[in-house]
Amino acid sequence: MTYLIQGDDGDWEVVIGLEVHAQIVSNSKLFSGASTAFGGAPNSHVSLVDAAMPGMLPVVNRVCVEQAVRTGLGLNAKINLHSVFERKNYFYPDLPFGYQISQFQHPIVGEGVVTLDMPDGSVREIGIERLHMEQDAGKSMHDQDPKRTFVDLNRAGVALMEIVSKPDLRSPEEVGAYLRKLRSILRYLGTCDGNMEQGSLRCDANVSVRPKGSTELRTRCEIKNVNSVRFVMQAIEFEAERQVDIYDAGDTVDQETRLYDATTGETRSMRSKEEAHDYRYFPDPDLLPIDLSQEYVDKIRAALPELPDAKKLRFIDDYGIAPDDAGVLVAEQETAAFFEAVADGRDAKLAANWVIHELFAVLNKSGLDIDESPVSAESLGKLVGLIADNTISGRIAKDVFEIMVAEGGDPEAIVEEKGLKQITDTGAIEGEVDKIIAENPGQVEAYQGGNEKLIGWFVGQVMKATGGKANPKMVNELLRKKLS
Ligand code: MN
Repeated sequence: MTYLIQGDDGDWEVVIGLEVHAQIVSNSKLFSGASTAFGGAPNSHVSLVDAAMPGMLPVVNRVCVEQAVRTGLGLNAKINLHSVFERKNYFYPDLPFGYQISQFQHPIVGEGVVTLDMPDGSVREIGIERLHMEQDAGKSMHDQDPKRTFVDLNRAGVALMEIVSKPDLRSPEEVGAYLRKLRSILRYLGTCDGNMEQGSLRCDANVSVRPKGSTELRTRCEIKNVNSVRFVMQAIEFEAERQVDIYDAGDTVDQETRLYDATTGETRSMRSKEEAHDYRYFPDPDLLPIDLSQEYVDKIRAALPELPDAKKLRFIDDYGIAPDDAGVLVAEQETAAFFEAVADGRDAKLAANWVIHELFAVLNKSGLDIDESPVSAESLGKLVGLIADNTISGRIAKDVFEIMVAEGGDPEAIVEEKGLKQITDTGAIEGEVDKIIAENPGQVEAYQGGNEKLIGWFVGQVMKATGGKANPKMVNELLRKKLS
């Protein structure tokens, strides 16, 4: 499902690699004890280390190291027992050190892989090049004063994982699937909250194009700091077409860093792209290399939760639900747990349907997360049970569900109180069937004359007459018998 762009000389394909900056879940920063809490008053979470006061020394936060290792394991990646912090030298007004402490030659995590299940059923394996730890910069605030810029250092020194993919992505759709999958894995692991609006997950995309079928890697442009999946996809689409137009005009693409403007849907040049040697990386003399034991890594591995891929396979095997449905249910850990509680000891396919269709519709409409669901897993499970044992029909169940959403309450009590139990008494149903047949001789004649589709109309009439409470299967059988 490669994304092709029609150019003057035939088709072009787009080649994309992503660098994702994921904020590590940790109470304090990578090299100081200052809080990482979001939304504090400006400069209220800043230690002397974060402000780069002379003589201050960084101390590695062991929780951040553990989180980086856990993430590496979740990405099926090689953990490097020896890694080194280096200084990446550049100037930003909100970077007090004048350099960023990062990892370069010896990152803590090496090659790994993320598996994507695409909507067309194909499976794509996207290579991970590396994951390294680094500190975040502060934030320049341009909107506080008409003439001056202020700096907020609350974010300065917060631990990030930079997760670099191989240039394996071939379309905006694959990029969307990759980001959603990565976010899901990080959230399962508890190593990043994945909150893109708060900047916990930010994406840089390296984009180039090449003639279809070629294996060359042409000059790429880097689109910086896009903070929504949809915007990244739009930015790549625009950028790929821009580059094809340049080649069509006989020009060459310049390596540069570009910004995406969501209001115009365009990318524009920010600066010509630096090469690694421009940053004058060198090992930070204030920090010792990190040397981990295999035992330490194995211990973290043993404590990993069941991750989305494994959970999806288990759902397909154990519950017999369709791969697409399983994919939807495992995307968030909370949804998966909710489904398992609903399906526990019941018809799992029915449970999956009710969670994915009826419950999600209600949650989407009201903008609620599953842990704020107005209907508990226990109640929804009971409702599914009532359908499965034929106490109520699926149609009536929707009415009961509506009451549960609006007023709460136990489905069994609602069914009892409103007299919604399904009519499964053959005699009662037969009476209605006979009546409908007697009242509609014209339709009977048409049916018997070969218009078999009319059976649906007859079933509908009986259901209407019984207020939807007749067992549809029994109605169907009785009608066919009596009309034949
Ligand atoms: Mn970085």
